[in-house]
Amino acid sequence: MIDILSIPFETVEKQIADLGYPRYRAKQLFQWLAEGCRNFEEMTNLPKALRQLLGERYLLHNPRLLRKQTSAEDGTIKCLWELQDGHSVETVFMRYHYGNSVCISSQVGCRQGCAFCASTIGGLVRSLSPGEMYDEVIFTEKAASDRVSNIVLMGIGEPLDNLENVLAFLHLISREDARNIGLRHITVSTCGLPEQMLLLAAEKLPITLSVSLHAPDDATRSKIMPSNRGVETVMQACEQYVRITGRRISFEYAMIEGVNDSIVQANLLAAHAKRIGAHVNLIPLNYVEERGLKPSSSAVIALFQDMLLNLGVNVTVRRRLGADIDASCGQLRRKYTANH
Ligand code: SAH
Repeated sequence: MIDILSIPFETVEKQIADLGYPRYRAKQLFQWLAEGCRNFEEMTNLPKALRQLLGERYLLHNPRLLRKQTSAEDGTIKCLWELQDGHSVETVFMRYHYGNSVCISSQVGCRQGCAFCASTIGGLVRSLSPGEMYDEVIFTEKAASDRVSNIVLMGIGEPLDNLENVLAFLHLISREDARNIGLRHITVSTCGLPEQMLLLAAEKLPITLSVSLHAPDDATRSKIMPSNRGVETVMQACEQYVRITGRRISFEYAMIEGVNDSIVQANLLAAHAKRIGAHVNLIPLNYVEERGLKPSSSAVIALFQDMLLNLGVNVTVRRRLGADIDASCGQLRRKYTANH
């Protein structure tokens, strides 16, 4: 049997029609799914016989909330979810003045090996299915007793290393009858895998693409990001992405003391940002116990930001949310599994 949330809506719609029911039954079904109902029997506006047929054909998973932590500082909520096979991933619910956001994971673990990130410790276990990503959104909303207007794929994993499932997830979550979060309200973050960026560009989705640059020169970038395919190659992929999609890109730049915070690097970063027309997001490095790297001081970050501003770059420093519960960028991990 297959997980109904991991097959395209159109396929389910056709199968329902083949069973002799009108197509609007599929819409009703997906409305239930969007509300977090995970039992066909409870879908009371569907005919009983159809509920039974669906139950014989499809699986519905119910992610289990293993742990929920709420930040005393800013109300950010971090959830640890157990998936069907006992693996677990984290999500983060954040409140901003423009609305609520959820940060979701795209893989169990990660194989990109960034030297500053907790998510990659222990490597990649597996990619998440479209339905699992969908449920991260729906069930985090339930856990927070609140709705989100924005989604960021910035949790555990590299979304473009799971592109097919991420695309299926984006199609599902943005469907009017399946949660209706517009693609313009969704950000996908990548460590900068050039070929996959071009495959994503070809889809021409109005999402926001965020590229984790973290260093403007190859010597530094290859040292902290083993997935680096060359800064110039990444920039060319960014240029193409912008040309094909007509969408702006943003660069993520985690400020690491003595590694990527020099004046020379600020100048080089500014040149890249201007070439691509990218917005730069500076992130004071978040603490990861095993990594031994330190954030740049706030004075250095302010100076770095000023330099970029003076060079005409659109730059902001990311507000840190959920730091007291290890819910900030790079701090999510698959801490516990069922067999732990
Ligand atoms: N794999 C994707 C998405 C997950 S990481 C990517 O690389 O973009 C989300 C963001 O957090 C990335 O920009 C990542 O580089 C950044 N990050 C990772 N560890 C961090 C840390 N310790 N401090 C600050 N940002 C970090």
